[in-house]
Amino acid sequence: MARVRRIRSASMRGKEYRIRWKRPPPVMTPDGRPQLVDGMCQAPLSKNPEIWIAPDLPTIRMMWALLHESGHACMWDIDEEAVDETAESQTALLIRAGFTLV
Ligand SMILES: [Zn+2]
Repeated sequence: MARVRRIRSASMRGKEYRIRWKRPPPVMTPDGRPQLVDGMCQAPLSKNPEIWIAPDLPTIRMMWALLHESGHACMWDIDEEAVDETAESQTALLIRAGFTLV
């Protein structure tokens, strides 16, 4: 399990988000099957928007999930694939640059 600070809020492009360390409910795949997800982000125009992150993720996966969900918060109009690829690239970059979580 990741050893990270369980921050409770974050400012995303000036919008205050509540951070909840809780696994989101499963989402339905296009063929109607429930699928577990690592995080979710509510639209920035929502009242009191939230980002949820599953608390039981390994460290690197949790970093990816935070980058991914904060990517949605900051760039709500960007599609899922672009947000996903961006989070993957940023995670690889931070690991390659030697960032570690103690
Ligand atoms: Zn996403």
